Order: sequence, then C-alpha cells, then structure tokens
Amino acid sequence: MREYFSRISEKPFRATQVMKWVYHQGITDFEKMTDISKPLREQLGQQTVFQLPEIVSQQTSVDGTRKWLLQIDEKNCIETVFIPEKDRGTLCISSQVGCPLDCSFCSTGKQGFSKNLSVAEIIGQLWLANRELGSFQDNRRVVTNVVMMGMGEPLLNFNNVVTAMNLMKDDLGFNLAQKRVTLSTAGVVPGIDKLAETTKVSLAVSLHAANNDTRDILVPINRKYPIKELIAACKRYAAQRDNDPITFEYVMLDGINDSSADARELSRILKDVPAKVNLIPFNPFPGSGYLCSPKRTIDAFRDILVKNGLITITRKTRGDDIDAACGQLVGKVAAKAKRLQ
Ligand code: SAH
Repeated sequence: MREYFSRISEKPFRATQVMKWVYHQGITDFEKMTDISKPLREQLGQQTVFQLPEIVSQQTSVDGTRKWLLQIDEKNCIETVFIPEKDRGTLCISSQVGCPLDCSFCSTGKQGFSKNLSVAEIIGQLWLANRELGSFQDNRRVVTNVVMMGMGEPLLNFNNVVTAMNLMKDDLGFNLAQKRVTLSTAGVVPGIDKLAETTKVSLAVSLHAANNDTRDILVPINRKYPIKELIAACKRYAAQRDNDPITFEYVMLDGINDSSADARELSRILKDVPAKVNLIPFNPFPGSGYLCSPKRTIDAFRDILVKNGLITITRKTRGDDIDAACGQLVGKVAAKAKRLQ
C-alpha cells in the first residue's frame, strides 16, 4: 500500500491511515476516512476497490459455533468457522477451494481441488468474521486465535497464505500474536522448511498415523514425504522457533490407527520432538467408510501418550450439528447448485 501511495505521489503515511481505517475500524468506505483529504478520497474511490467474499449464508450451532458460507466466484464457495470458548475465540480459515491432497477421511478432499484463494479472500474471512461478530463496532477482540485449518492445504498456496498471515500479525492489521496464528499442514515437507525461513507462526501437522503403511492410505502425500522426513522437518522447524511445541493432529479412526501399539509407536516417533498431541474424534460424513473410535479407546490411547510424557488433548467436537466440524467443510457447492436449479 505504501508503494501504491508513493506511485500516486502521496506520502507513505497515507498507507498507515488507510490500514487503520480498514483493519482497526472496519471501515472500507473511503468517504468515511475523515483524516484523508476529499480529493484524495475521491481518487482512491476511483482507482481502488475493496473486495470481500460475499456471505451466502450463516449458521449457528447449539454450542455457539458459527459457520459462514462465502461465495468466491460464480462456481465456488468456501467455509469459515468461528469457535467460541471461555477464554478465547478461534477462527478456522480456508486457504483453498477444495483440496488436492485427497486424505481418505476428509470430506473437503473428496470434492477435489478448484483453486487457490487470493490474499484478499484469505484475510477477507477474518475481516468478515470481525464485522459479523461485532468486533469493529464494540472495539473488542472476539477472534483471538486464527487457525489455517479450514478447507485446503495452506502450504500449497504458500505466498498468499504467508502474506495473509503477516497481515493478521501486523500491528496495522489485526495485531495477533504470532503464537495465536497457526498453520496446519498435511505434511508438505519443503513448505515447512520454507515457512520456517519466511515468517513466524505456530505449526500444526496432521500426522494421523505413526507408520508409513497406514499413513500412505490416510494421508496420501505421505508417499512423497514419508514420516521420517516429516518428523525431521518438524524438528528443524521447532529448532528455529525456540523449541515451541508443534501440534500433532491425530484423527481417531475405529480399528485403523487407534490401537495401543499405534499409541506406543506414536510416542516413539515423537520422542525427541517438542510436541503436543491433539486427538481428533473422527467426524463422519456420508460415504466416508470410517467410524470414530469409541470414547474408551480414545481415552486409553491418550493415557498411553501421557504416560510416555506427551502433552495430549482430545479435541472437543464443535459445530457438528451444522457440519462445521473438522473435515466436514465442503462449501456445499453441489447441493446449493442443485437447489437453485
Ligand atoms: N490441509 C491441512 C489443513 C486442514 S486442517 C491439514 O491437513 O492439516 C483440518 C484438520 O481436520 C486436519 O487435521 C484434518 O486431517 C482433520 N480432518 C479432516 N477430516 C476430518 C474428519 N472427517 N474428522 C476429523 N478430523 C478431520
């Protein structure tokens, strides 16, 4: 934005002014940017445009989780989910329309890949959530954490995702602490290394299996970047980040990856990694072919990890009544198109 203002022979501090209006006040109408002269406001109105994804619908779960369906273009929709908790509010943001990785238990993967989201479409999700949750109006931070855990593989849309995350952290943007912005990856190893060199955010890795035979099936990108390489990249990442723990996500699939042998193997491979484990009860969707592990199996699995010194949390399922839970985000494009016909 500074470059833009210098191109039109204006002082760079104009960028600061506009940023504050947009990201701190939630104002995108140039006419309301009162510390900018009228002629310049007019020029801005003619030369630039604020483009936000359009909200097609929104749903609220009985547990307070909110989900927005956003129109990206004529054919494509994405979903963004807000998860309120006692001490924080987490926004789960999409990075792609669909996903090319095709993990066998993920509904997003089943719809295939359409396209990468632009920086505006990524940061726009956070801006819209802030507006819809009344943050700008009340000057109150409702979204305290952002997780790139919606639709898509963020490391396959690297530049746009990093630029958007930098805006989330920038004090002229949403001013979020770096630890409160988390990128989650299915294990794109070169992307993990590049991320460590490029910006500072928390990392989550969708591990889901402790051996290659099982992971090859659940997370097919494992065939390209097997567990050993992935764990080595995680260690490098943690080393660059003062050994801040990496979150390992592990979806609990009945009879597939939930035995006590699996738990012991997982403990072994994470032995030397600064790690937290997040066990995710599998959220079913039609035709998935998997079942969620019973609660007692998840508890027994957790107990083995804890006994082996791993900080382990079982993720609460939130928003499943509105299909907003992990792995259930599909943008509902097909169903919606059918209804419109
Ligand atoms: N592509 C990135 C970002 C998506 S994050 C990644 O894989 O990390 C979404 C998280 O939800 C991932 O950990 C994913 O494995 C998990 N997930 C996908 N489908 C799920 C399902 N049906 N039930 C529970 N978790 C699921």
